[in-house]
Amino acid sequence: MTAREAVAEGTGALEAGRPGSPFLDATILLAHAMDISRDALLARLPDALDDAVLGRYRALVARRLAGEPVAYITGCREFWGLPFRSDPRALMPRPETEHLVETALSMLPPPRQGKRLRCHDAFAGSGCVGIALASERPDIEMALSDASGPALELCAENAAALLTPDRPGGFPAMLRGDILSAASAPLDAIVANPPYVSSALTREILGAGSPEPADALDGGPDGLAFYGPLAAQAFSLLNPGGFLAVEIGDEQGPAVAAILEAAGFSDARIVRDLAGLDRVVAGVKRA
Ligand code: GLN
Repeated sequence: MTAREAVAEGTGALEAGRPGSPFLDATILLAHAMDISRDALLARLPDALDDAVLGRYRALVARRLAGEPVAYITGCREFWGLPFRSDPRALMPRPETEHLVETALSMLPPPRQGKRLRCHDAFAGSGCVGIALASERPDIEMALSDASGPALELCAENAAALLTPDRPGGFPAMLRGDILSAASAPLDAIVANPPYVSSALTREILGAGSPEPADALDGGPDGLAFYGPLAAQAFSLLNPGGFLAVEIGDEQGPAVAAILEAAGFSDARIVRDLAGLDRVVAGVKRA
């Protein structure tokens, strides 16, 4: 069988069983089975595959069909152009979460000689948000926290692999704690991608075979459980002029904007993702 035929076989199987991005998934899994990059695979589609590679590939496709995310199967997911390690200790990084990074970058004051901005990433999981921010802004003193010990381990592995230890803002602190309990004032910026999926939908997602950690998804009956405490704690930790930016579910924009304003934030605004869906809410603690 050629690589092209194997890709067609896998794409067909995935299309039926795990709709989404079957061709992309099949090519990533075949490249992984061949131990080459996806670009290299696309240049080698006419090549014949040996049986060992084909066997490995079919086993990977079967894992995907059983519900395992591609990122967990390959152990890696690109986010903000950086290769994050990804496994069931934390949610895999989602492309739409890049809007949270983008929003925070657009709200941060420009770097100033001799001044370190202090930033906290709560519900850090794999660390993708805080690590991407730290990679863009070496002047930021970054702390990342999570209630889950295993998630924090993964986060630390990613920080060690993706950030230079001698960055001006120092190596990020990894802190164990729920919501913002581990954060220390004064902060200039707080970012968070809290669990925001309703409990019912979380059960459905896990029932369909996803091995992602339930605690990272489940935001209570309406998915909004964490935003109130998060906004209240953030408001008291921030410097005047500082901001809170959070990822949200696409139907939560107005509700989360209202929660931020009730906590004292001004100018709460909703940012849409590339699909045109509400994805981020940000508010400022007015000076
Ligand atoms: N966007 C994720 C999903 O729908 C949820 C992420 C989260 O709860 N923070 O699977």
